[in-house]
Amino acid sequence: MERSRRLAELVPYLVPGWRLDPAQLRIVETDTVLGAYQRGQEFTLRCRRPDCSRRVALDLRAAIAAGFGDRPLAELIERLRCRHWSGCDLRETSASYPRGVPLVGYLGLPDMLVAIACIQCGQRLLLPPRAVIDRLKAARIGDGATGVRELGSVVRGPCRACRGMRFSSALVWPSWSGSRPI
Ligand SMILES: [Zn+2]
Ligand SMILES: [Zn+2]
Repeated sequence: MERSRRLAELVPYLVPGWRLDPAQLRIVETDTVLGAYQRGQEFTLRCRRPDCSRRVALDLRAAIAAGFGDRPLAELIERLRCRHWSGCDLRETSASYPRGVPLVGYLGLPDMLVAIACIQCGQRLLLPPRAVIDRLKAARIGDGATGVRELGSVVRGPCRACRGMRFSSALVWPSWSGSRPI
């Protein structure tokens, strides 16, 4: 069946912190404290009560050591609430991927491309995320867990145009320009 074949195709791309979603036919984030830690995510929260304003940078490692690994992230945030008489208003202010969103997160999003550019001459290579992951794995320098920003520092040269050895990377959103991968 077409559906089960497409699911099976995704299995080799699974990395820690991500799971198969059969309904969406995509690889999605595992909603646990351990999953967030494995993905290298960082979270900051802030209580919006003017007389509290407490800031929290989630210590995922400590939470895992305390037994929260398999709990949803929301439960951990719940346990961090303050005891303000009018209720705590602790909210997530940022959930970031310091190394960029892992490439696996873009699998199956149509027309999404990853650009790898030579810093010296600007020559650009545009590839679908799946092709980038395949190349990283073949060269044993990364996989779906590689962040889209860190990718540039992982790629090996030299640039075909200028022999440059330094690259930058970014996600290219679908556009109507009709440009195709090269
Ligand atoms: Zn508070
Ligand atoms: Zn170059």
